[in-house]
Amino acid sequence: MELIGLLHASDRALTQQELEARTTVAADRVSIFRSLDAFEQAGLVHRVLDAGGTGRYAPCTGGCAQGAHVDAHAHFHCVRCEGVFCLATVTVPKVELPRGFRSQRSHLDVEGICKACR
Ligand SMILES: [Zn+2]
Ligand SMILES: [Zn+2]
Ligand SMILES: [Zn+2]
Repeated sequence: MELIGLLHASDRALTQQELEARTTVAADRVSIFRSLDAFEQAGLVHRVLDAGGTGRYAPCTGGCAQGAHVDAHAHFHCVRCEGVFCLATVTVPKVELPRGFRSQRSHLDVEGICKACR
């Protein structure tokens, strides 16, 4: 399966290593990284950092365009399986910033035990 299909088929965000292990398309590390980077630029996938700072990839939930992501949804981090899930229905509230400050990205992360680990 191709990378984008793998991301859509997964219930959780996947690391580059996980994608590498699952893809059936002959691809090396560098070309996987390049594809993910291109998908991110194109507004098809977004990157989520887990607690350890590892990037994971998940499909965008709609409305994203070339170079302009609008994925203002929360993410769930499971402390047991270390899975990262997109909470597409939970919107990150807009934060009122003091004068002079400009937001580029805001995150809302929820930590706990996921459905599969309960
Ligand atoms: Zn996006
Ligand atoms: Zn879990
Ligand atoms: Zn997400």
